[in-house]
Amino acid sequence: MKLLLWDIDGTLLDTGGAGMKALREGWEEAFPEVSAITAFPPLDLAGSTDAGLARLLFDHYQIPWSDQGFARLLETYHLRLEAGLRSQPGRVLPGVADLLARLGGSSHFAQGLLTGNTRTGAATKTRHLGLEGHFAFGAYGDDHHDRNALGPIAIGRAEQITGHRFEAHRVYVIGDTPRDIACARACGAVAIAVATGRHTRGELEACFPDWLFDDLADGAAFVAALHAE
Ligand SMILES: [Mg+2]
Repeated sequence: MKLLLWDIDGTLLDTGGAGMKALREGWEEAFPEVSAITAFPPLDLAGSTDAGLARLLFDHYQIPWSDQGFARLLETYHLRLEAGLRSQPGRVLPGVADLLARLGGSSHFAQGLLTGNTRTGAATKTRHLGLEGHFAFGAYGDDHHDRNALGPIAIGRAEQITGHRFEAHRVYVIGDTPRDIACARACGAVAIAVATGRHTRGELEACFPDWLFDDLADGAAFVAALHAE
């Protein structure tokens, strides 16, 4: 059995900026005093973890990090995200729904999430677009601020739930950014890059993924790549 670990934003779906909007609004609601004085900074969300972004925000606003403060931010962020997606849910990227169903129907593959989103944020985004049923486990952006630490967490949870042991070369990390490729390398997994996010094919190519797709519209080609390894 092979293990597929999916990134969410730019790989499975596109929320059309709802995540960034919810983070900004959630921050301003959680920390109105500092937000009135200092402007919200430009953030690079692609491939980041929510805990990593929170750390950047705490630094930017010169607030000492605390788990309590982080929890306060997540509470307002999750509410804003839920509301934002209710009015504008975004879209599933081409081929994704068919591919997940196809792989999920095969006894050769187990599928989970490896995402910078929090567990709640990941559930909210996938649920709003009807993709929530495909993933029984995952590693999330509130498990660790460093994306490279999420691979072993995801593999451990996959092994616990499926009862299978997954050697690194049978694990596939699928994502749309150089950070997803680095994350695959960090745990010895196969890196599959897909150019449906903000990064171009050329930018991803420069990071030497094992496989690179323009999008996931050609499910047969994707499955062939999985069987080729
Ligand atoms: Mg992504």
